[in-house]
Amino acid sequence: MQTPGKTTPLTLSDVTIRLGDRALLSISATVMPGDVLTIMGPSGSGKSTLLAYIGGFLDPAFVASGAVLLGPDDLIGTPPQQRHTGILFQDPLLFPHLSVGGNIVFAIPEAIKSRDIRRRLAEDALAAVGLGGFFDRDPETLSGGQKARVALQRVLLSEPRLLLLDEPFSKLDMALRQQTRELVFAKARSAGLPTILVTHDRADAVAAGGVLIHIGAETQA
Ligand code: ADP
Ligand code: MG
Repeated sequence: MQTPGKTTPLTLSDVTIRLGDRALLSISATVMPGDVLTIMGPSGSGKSTLLAYIGGFLDPAFVASGAVLLGPDDLIGTPPQQRHTGILFQDPLLFPHLSVGGNIVFAIPEAIKSRDIRRRLAEDALAAVGLGGFFDRDPETLSGGQKARVALQRVLLSEPRLLLLDEPFSKLDMALRQQTRELVFAKARSAGLPTILVTHDRADAVAAGGVLIHIGAETQA
């Protein structure tokens, strides 16, 4: 797992994204390790597109420019698989053909070779979010909140250098949403990960407690 000492700030410098002649967004910001930058905008404003640019999976329909720096490293010039970006989406996207534990083991870097150690890391990660003993369960038997916690632990064990959150709380009901937010932000903080949350939910931004940037045209009164 990433230790705070190994992490670095994330900087977006004049990141501009266009779709045809429509300017979607233009953002400059720095996110310190463990902090959350929230980008808020309505549906279709370009939130997921921004994360795709940072993660390296932008559709060629878009034209993007600007630097994304992780410490001194230029992420845009780095192949996507070497960016070490952790992403959580609205859907937890657990592999249905793997057990709950198998989903987590899958994400553990190959450098950790011992099967026993890989299994124990996954078991510990599950226990840390109240899912001790869930290793052999079928993901389909989990509740939405449980799936979200598995997805979180899976992404953290993949040793990301930054965390991108694409409305990962929006499908959870109110009480669960609050708990899950707190858990995700606490884990990002303790892992020292610079985090970008995109959302259309103001309560997400308030809970994140960091800098808030608005994008997209707000509805005219
Ligand atoms: P958000 O995540 O804020 O809801 P998106 O980033 O998904 O918005 O989309 C931004 C805009 O780009 C929307 O108008 C959407 O319809 C459009 N869009 C999304 N993906 C593509 C694509 N692959 N090709 C062309 N347009 C797209
Ligand atoms: Mg989106």
